[in-house]
Amino acid sequence: MMTGRYADIIVDISHENVDRPFQYRIPDSLRDKLETGMRIVVPFGGGNREVEGYVIGITDRAKCAEDKMKEILRISDGDIPIEGIQIKMAAWLRYQYGSTMITALKTVLPARKRTRGLQSRRICLKASEREARELLKKCRVRKTQAARARLLERLCEEGELSYERALRELAVSPGVIHTLEKNGILTVVSEDRYRDPISHAAPTPDGEEKRLVLSGEQQRIVRDVLADYDAGKPDRYLVHGITGSGKTEVYMELIAGMLARGRQAIVLIPEIALTYQTVARFTARFGKRVSVLHSRLSAGEKYDQCERAKKGEIDIIIGPRSALFTPFPRLGLIVIDEEHEASYKSETAPRYHAREAAAELAGYFGASLVLGSATPSLESYYAAQQGRLRKYELSRRLTGGELAKVYVEDMREELKSGNRSIFSRRLLQLLAKRLEAGEQSMLFLNRRGYAGFVSCRACGHVMKCPHCDVSLSEHGGGRLVCHYCGYEQPAVKRCPACGSKYILGFRAGTEQVEEQIRRLFPQARTLRMDADTTRRKDSHEVILTSFLGGKADILIGTQMIVKGHDFPDVTLVGILAADLSLHAGDYRAGERTFQLLTQAAGRAGRGEKPGEVVIQTYQPEHHAVRYAAAQDYKGFYEEEMAYRRLLSYPPAAHMMAVLVLSKEEEAGMSLAGELAQRAAGVCGEGALHIIGPAPAAISRIGDRYRAVFYARSGSAKTLIAAREALEELLERKRPQTETVQFDFDPMSRY
Ligand code: ADP
Ligand code: ZN
Ligand code: ZN
Repeated sequence: MMTGRYADIIVDISHENVDRPFQYRIPDSLRDKLETGMRIVVPFGGGNREVEGYVIGITDRAKCAEDKMKEILRISDGDIPIEGIQIKMAAWLRYQYGSTMITALKTVLPARKRTRGLQSRRICLKASEREARELLKKCRVRKTQAARARLLERLCEEGELSYERALRELAVSPGVIHTLEKNGILTVVSEDRYRDPISHAAPTPDGEEKRLVLSGEQQRIVRDVLADYDAGKPDRYLVHGITGSGKTEVYMELIAGMLARGRQAIVLIPEIALTYQTVARFTARFGKRVSVLHSRLSAGEKYDQCERAKKGEIDIIIGPRSALFTPFPRLGLIVIDEEHEASYKSETAPRYHAREAAAELAGYFGASLVLGSATPSLESYYAAQQGRLRKYELSRRLTGGELAKVYVEDMREELKSGNRSIFSRRLLQLLAKRLEAGEQSMLFLNRRGYAGFVSCRACGHVMKCPHCDVSLSEHGGGRLVCHYCGYEQPAVKRCPACGSKYILGFRAGTEQVEEQIRRLFPQARTLRMDADTTRRKDSHEVILTSFLGGKADILIGTQMIVKGHDFPDVTLVGILAADLSLHAGDYRAGERTFQLLTQAAGRAGRGEKPGEVVIQTYQPEHHAVRYAAAQDYKGFYEEEMAYRRLLSYPPAAHMMAVLVLSKEEEAGMSLAGELAQRAAGVCGEGALHIIGPAPAAISRIGDRYRAVFYARSGSAKTLIAAREALEELLERKRPQTETVQFDFDPMSRY
């Protein structure tokens, strides 16, 4: 708990106001009682009228002369309102992950819409879709009507869109909209009511149409969670079950239970999995009690969902990481599906992990926390082993469907027998069979976290840092660099293990894969999904839907294709370069690879027909590959955990990255050095182990140099204490051109 003589207060708590707190004196009578997040009464303005405000910080540092400062009158009566909890959450984020209180508050509070008038107008298609499409055709061939074509195209796809979006995203002028309205093609509707981002979902007579009988395993989870909740002992649970084992049904049953108890629920899913399919499943059951939050909503739409949540107009929110901060006053349940996903970690300060923040938040409300995954994070499984999470297994696929047959193809052998292409002979054979049978295949190029590692095509040997056991990355000028400790060596011409000259980085991308497939199988219809082809807002959904509709034989893509949609007609999955993510140069590479391979393998054979999976690799003996092929999570966990213990990587220990951004390279390195020394000094040798500083993997972004060091410790508290000491030092020093960022238990290297 913070102590101090002054309190920073905001009256009318909102995202926009947190930059301008007012400072008040804390009277002696409240000195030990006041806490961040409390609602208090203060004299305000010239007339000193009494208003309520919130404490957002307590300090000994006065911002102005003490005699000019007013004094807090009293603490408000009654329960802590949701705003108080939001502030408490922000204070925890600040403490746990490091950032300013203002940034933390902005993370937690939704930004208010600015232009209500404009945003509450919607453009709806009035003409029939056929008419609109005909007009669209005509507009497309005329250069002067490009704006019209853009608008019509969007309207044909979506039926309606917000006026503001038409202006901003499509760059359509009000004049164009007006003309089309005059011609009866569209109407502009003004709305005062809250924007419901899923109003386009098929209307449902509040659920109930299809209730499944839960299996014994499913029932046990639901029973236990609700019983604990009713006994006033809400707990944290991990549901470990492969895709299709009925986790979502369990979540829905739990939500139903919470609604019956007058409680509300937050369901986090990775943004990439937030598809129409997923949302439709929840709306089919819960109707208008459900809403969504995601990055494609406008600020106004997001704000509205939060207002509706606060007022109790909705009880269930589905969304990615940030949906955790939906201000439900009666929160009873938080679900985090695919809890292992890296996207649950924020990439900007405060760099919080939604799983940890959810546990904290659940504590404030006495809510239950349910994590679900087919491949739990090492963190969660470890917590379960230690009894900090209660673990449940869902062991079967409920829709029938056998697990796929997995082949591991050793690409070193392919090279030996003269096959230098990116496809193994087995994969080509099976692809040909699929094309003949008219079945679908997916080809997955695993480029996640790819860092330019160097490996031997003949023996699979990977160039690694002798100190950190992570892969070295190829840099310009023929150097190989370790991004943890800065170790460097010249590039090699021959493999140190076998002497082969085929030692190099991997360069193929999805585009080349598609080209080669077209050359090998001219008759095949292909679709490609990667960052390039999904730049447009709904292109994701469009590609997946057309593949689902059988419009292509082979879908080629990056990790995007292994999540979300279910494709019952896919009977073959090829994983082209399993190794790429194995050597991302950070300690989670093995875990990420195992997860990706398992997920990708799970794509094949979801329907009636059995599936086959081909994993191509230069390292068939790597434990991530072996256990993924065997679909053995437990085996993988044991071996990976042993490695983390051996090298004191999380979750066996904790790790903090300290990133220094600077204008001058030297100045950045020198500040990083000073901070590293201070961190070691404050905690005492032995309590803290410092690695680095070294230039980051991406050593410069824009005109900012990036230096980084890592501190490891068995205790999270030690790392937090070190961070606070560094923050204090920076507060005193106030470096002019350098900024410092902290990342607790980082998900990847810098
Ligand atoms: P997961 O979330 O683990 O992928 P889902 O809850 O989506 O699993 O369930 C997979 C499929 O199995 C869905 O089609 C779902 O309707 C069905 N299912 C789930 N539970 C049952 C059950 N108890 N009986 C029959 N079918 C079920
Ligand atoms: Zn070799
Ligand atoms: Zn190293």
